[in-house]
Amino acid sequence: MIIAEQKPFAEIQDMIAPYGKLLLVGCGTCMTFCSAGGPDEVNKLAEALYSENKDRLIEKTNIPRQCSMKFIDRLEKKIHDTEAILSMACGNGVQAVASRFPEKPVLPALNTRFIGIKEEPGVWTEMCTACGDCILWRTGGICPVTRCAKGLLNGPCGGASEGRCEVSKDRPCAWQQIYHALKRLNMLHYLKEKPQVKDWRIRPGIVIREDLREVEAT
Ligand code: SF4
Ligand code: SF4
Repeated sequence: MIIAEQKPFAEIQDMIAPYGKLLLVGCGTCMTFCSAGGPDEVNKLAEALYSENKDRLIEKTNIPRQCSMKFIDRLEKKIHDTEAILSMACGNGVQAVASRFPEKPVLPALNTRFIGIKEEPGVWTEMCTACGDCILWRTGGICPVTRCAKGLLNGPCGGASEGRCEVSKDRPCAWQQIYHALKRLNMLHYLKEKPQVKDWRIRPGIVIREDLREVEAT
């Protein structure tokens, strides 16, 4: 899931300052699951905005996903006299809404952080950078691109101490974790192979599936 967190309230206040009428929009999928922009957070932010902005008209709504035109279309009836949309989606959702309504400013209420998982209540960890060339099959299911502080692909830097990364003692050394995972899986031979060179020309990404295009066109 995509993980985000709300921007500082003062920054949101600065963003909305030029607009007298706003529509605050929540997102029902990742942003709800990571407690950043679902119905509860929409209500809380709306309450905070109402109390600080008596001179502004702020409406609120929620859609299941801000990255799907099917759901973004539902906003059409609500935005006619809205001066700006304050979105509680990830950056993907904000850009999708902005592309659908190019005549309206779409303001991000959240900072999109990463693709990750919830470790425990209130703690989320980054797991994947969506590099487009996944190597998890030979790293024991642990991503060095994302979870090694230096993004090393050819093994540890040598700076780990007691299993902790030299860049931050708060995080484990990903390469030490990879070693233990491969050992457990009897796959240590992967560590002796030449590292794969990543093809960074694939950024920014686009995925084209001709088979699906043909099906949808018929
Ligand atoms: S807009 Fe972002 S948060 Fe919402 S479903 Fe899509 S990817 Fe997830
Ligand atoms: S290698 Fe890492 S960043 Fe790339 S797709 Fe796999 S998990 Fe994601």
